[in-house]
Amino acid sequence: MALIVFLAFLLGTFIGSFLNVVTQRLPKCATLGGRSACANCGRVLGLLDLIPVISFIALGGKCRTCKVEIHWRYLAMELVCGGLFAMSAWLYPPLDGLLVVKFLLSAIVCSVGLVTFVVDFEHFIILDRVTVVGSVLAFICVIVLDTMSGQGLFSRASLSVRALLGVACGMVPFFILWFVSGGKWLGFGDVKYMLFFGLTLGYPLVIVGLLFSFWLGALVSLPLLVLGRKQLTSRLPFGTFLVLGQITTLMYGPVFLHWYLRLIGF
Ligand SMILES: [Zn+2]
Repeated sequence: MALIVFLAFLLGTFIGSFLNVVTQRLPKCATLGGRSACANCGRVLGLLDLIPVISFIALGGKCRTCKVEIHWRYLAMELVCGGLFAMSAWLYPPLDGLLVVKFLLSAIVCSVGLVTFVVDFEHFIILDRVTVVGSVLAFICVIVLDTMSGQGLFSRASLSVRALLGVACGMVPFFILWFVSGGKWLGFGDVKYMLFFGLTLGYPLVIVGLLFSFWLGALVSLPLLVLGRKQLTSRLPFGTFLVLGQITTLMYGPVFLHWYLRLIGF
């Protein structure tokens, strides 16, 4: 078990290293192909510079040639992605076919979420390409899970139906909020992100995810408002809260829902 979690962590650091490239290049509309190079001296990075975490530490956080400091975000994203993958493996140890797909789904949510979080935080946008690719991959996982568990596609209690219900529960209210506010309360990227959000959580967890997101948003923005650091009209990257709510719900939503339903006497 410990070994599986550790291997998942290693895999996560490699994916995190790749996601770093995605968050740097896609917002500038550049392609993902081509080798990585030092932003300062332009030296193309070799294999030894590209080992996640290890390279950064071995080089002391500096470029091998020109000694300019490498931004800490590279290390941070590799570690965070590794941690999320490890947590996914802990919750869904990929030991049989069904669990492998569940682990994959969790890993997809973490990866797409991480990219969306960073890009929305930096640029105030949510990339359509990332949302769409994530949604397609997630829906494939859902269909495979339904098929493997013998649930039957699009039967009453199947994951696929719950996923589609989740999309409706997320996209419809967000579209109305966007429409009514003329895009002031949230961006259209947030509306489109609900496709991925709803698909991966499904009904009824999508409701828990939305609650978590709004609570987190309030928890962060209210102190900023009180301290006068932000005004009611200033923009907040709402997508970052959606991602946090989504990942928390994916991992701990069922526990929370169970606890809450018992609390209110179901
Ligand atoms: Zn350099």
